[in-house]
Amino acid sequence: MEPAAWREGVPLIGDDQVYVMKRGTVYHGSWCQAVADRWASAPRGLLVAMLAEVGARTPCRECAQLVKAARATARDRHTRSGLAQQPTPADWVVPLRVVGLAHGVLFLAAGAEHRGRLRETAVEPATPLYVGGQRDGMLVRLDAGRAEPLLVVQMDPRATFRDGPYQARLRQPLQRSASKPFAVAHIERAQEA
Ligand SMILES: [Zn+2]
Repeated sequence: MEPAAWREGVPLIGDDQVYVMKRGTVYHGSWCQAVADRWASAPRGLLVAMLAEVGARTPCRECAQLVKAARATARDRHTRSGLAQQPTPADWVVPLRVVGLAHGVLFLAAGAEHRGRLRETAVEPATPLYVGGQRDGMLVRLDAGRAEPLLVVQMDPRATFRDGPYQARLRQPLQRSASKPFAVAHIERAQEA
């Protein structure tokens, strides 16, 4: 039968097609060495068939390994491209601790394991700090140019500061052109362990 496509004279199989030799007991789901050898030596002995029609033939082992390797590569590529990766719920929360409060400005830092994430995080305008559902301050910037990146919060003058663990909830940036994959949605007090 006709292959799904041709590339530079080589027949390419579709999703439901395989390569078979005129005589043989296996079928090939990819352009493996056996297929390439047959194509080089006797191209007319290489046929394209529907997978549903191969009958008693068994899959070629080399092909199966090629497919496995291709899948692993695709998965690997997917994992390395940060934006394409589906972040896990833990990726969206950065635990913070208070490192200072001076003149109504609160400084929050993340543990070492979360600093990389903070460096991938943007601060967009009007990012609130909530305590008990109430807005007690505004995140003004992320000081990332230091060994320990700090989130800098301008506290509301009427707010009563409460010490303890805080956390940043992240979201995707509002600006589609954002250069970082995350933005701070808001900061809130964390449940004490
Ligand atoms: Zn094969």
